[in-house]
Amino acid sequence: MKIVIVGGVAGGATTAARIRRLDEHAKIIIFERSGYISYANCGLPYYIGDTITDSEELTLQTPEGFYSRFRVDVKVHHEVVDIHPEIKKVSVMNLKSGEVFQENYDKLVLSPGAKPAQPRMPGIGIDKLFTLRTVEDTFRIKEYINKNHPKSVVLAGGGFIGLEMAENLRELGMDVTIVQSSKQLMTPFDFDMASIIHSKMRKHGIKLKLGYTVDGFEEKHGGVDVLLKNSPSIHADMVVLAIGVIPDTALAKKAGLKLGIKGSIAVNDRMETSVPDIYAAGDAVQVKHYVTGNDMLISLAGPANKQGRIIADNICGGDSRYLGSQGSSVIKIFDMTAATTGINENYAREAGLNADTVILSPMSHAGYYPNGKVMTVKVVFEKKTYRLLGAQIIGYDGVDKRIDVLATAIHTGMKATQLKDLDLAYAPPYSSAKDPVNMVGFMVDNIEKGLLKQWHIKDIDTIFNNENVTMLDVRTSEEFNSGHIDGFKNIPVDELRERLEEIEKNKPVYLICQSGLRSYIASRILEGNGFETYNFSGGFRFYDSVVNERELIKRAYACGMDK
Ligand code: FAD
Repeated sequence: MKIVIVGGVAGGATTAARIRRLDEHAKIIIFERSGYISYANCGLPYYIGDTITDSEELTLQTPEGFYSRFRVDVKVHHEVVDIHPEIKKVSVMNLKSGEVFQENYDKLVLSPGAKPAQPRMPGIGIDKLFTLRTVEDTFRIKEYINKNHPKSVVLAGGGFIGLEMAENLRELGMDVTIVQSSKQLMTPFDFDMASIIHSKMRKHGIKLKLGYTVDGFEEKHGGVDVLLKNSPSIHADMVVLAIGVIPDTALAKKAGLKLGIKGSIAVNDRMETSVPDIYAAGDAVQVKHYVTGNDMLISLAGPANKQGRIIADNICGGDSRYLGSQGSSVIKIFDMTAATTGINENYAREAGLNADTVILSPMSHAGYYPNGKVMTVKVVFEKKTYRLLGAQIIGYDGVDKRIDVLATAIHTGMKATQLKDLDLAYAPPYSSAKDPVNMVGFMVDNIEKGLLKQWHIKDIDTIFNNENVTMLDVRTSEEFNSGHIDGFKNIPVDELRERLEEIEKNKPVYLICQSGLRSYIASRILEGNGFETYNFSGGFRFYDSVVNERELIKRAYACGMDK
């Protein structure tokens, strides 16, 4: 059997290696347009920022190494330019010599990835404007920095690549501005959680222009003017365009393969395309979202690798199925970690799901053991069924492990209430006897049992200036005096039982404390004394950071200059 693979990185190289492990005699050829195979896309920003200093670390394999280990024939600088399904051949151009030849196949695998979106606008193509996808792109950026010592950069786009580049270029001492058309960075997170990311970026001196759309670029004064819609342009020495990716599927389209969202390749759960004996994987394919079942594009390395493995199994006579992508992802933001899995509250609403959330701020490990750090956890679940829909966590320590537990729970179809039953490892340096994931379960269990009723930031307008409710802050008077929400009365939780007569009985009580724990205790005291209570999900610290951020963006937008 002869297998031809287009693209030699995440999906393509995985497919080739697995086929060889299953079939010692198959003939396998990879055509790769760039000069490298099996390179570490995910490590590229860290080479630019000098965290990875040896360029050889960026390539996990060489064509020679791949041949000697797997007997896979790797042709770099070779671009597949046409597929001829009717005769089972591809046309290939040797990019060094310009020669075009044909190669026949029994099975064809497409893993061409995606390319950085470059909308048609003035100035696209100028030499101080960069995109980042390949090793060559990385060297181009690095060389420009080493030669020209740029002092300022604009990053168009505030997603994963934009943020990783912002951090790395800031670490090199550059003045960094991120321009993002939506009013938040990192849209897999809800705005409230993204607020934490915003303040971390600002703390590190990164300027955010949120809610601004890039309209084009003009070379000026040895640098670039980034033109913005309805706002003055920003000048920088260089620009990185990171406004998302689009599936690189011109080849598939030309060959008449069925396409999906944004021209992605439509595949079934065996990763078969609409044309017999042609499979596809990775950023180029449309997948089902594991939680919603909707068609999606999810451009991440994990799915690409798994899909490559499934293709290999199926080519070699097996029957492996791809169950869908959940979008589990994690990013380092200076000393902080932000991670997400499943869907966020915003998306749940758009998808028509009746969702509720809990927000909590547990410690990464036992408070009495040194160096515990607070993390903020937001979990989204379906209101009636309590099915877990998604989670977002931002913190410093143990974020990745909790998101992976929650990702696994979502994958197995667990209810949020069942998180309380998980038997998770504990010793003081690592966790608490009630792990943050268990705490989520306890909270949702309390909601299910009617022990906990919540209010959220979106309810503030309803309760504010509302004579029919009592607003109560149960932190200490010192905490209250150092910052509180106007209109809230302060009775510290430990004085509550003695001061019940100060609270009107016939009005619902909206409670808040610093993290949500003391206000829950207060709510139980009050409920036990005949009051109706609602507890703020997330606590004052969370409220304050979200509301401040919202104000900051509103004010900055009004005067056209985000700080
Ligand atoms: P790729 O890995 O991009 O491979 C496609 C290859 O096909 C390319 O090398 C291309 O040259 C080649 N090709 C295309 N067309 C042809 C053709 N006609 N002929 C021959 N060759 C062709 N994901 C994460 O999960 N975590 C991360 O931290 C993360 N960080 C990232 C950071 C950066 C800077 C980038 C760019 C991506 C990052 N990703 C990350 C995404 C991840 O790298 C991709 O999801 C993954 O590589 C997709 O695999 P793929 O096989 O579909 O495409």
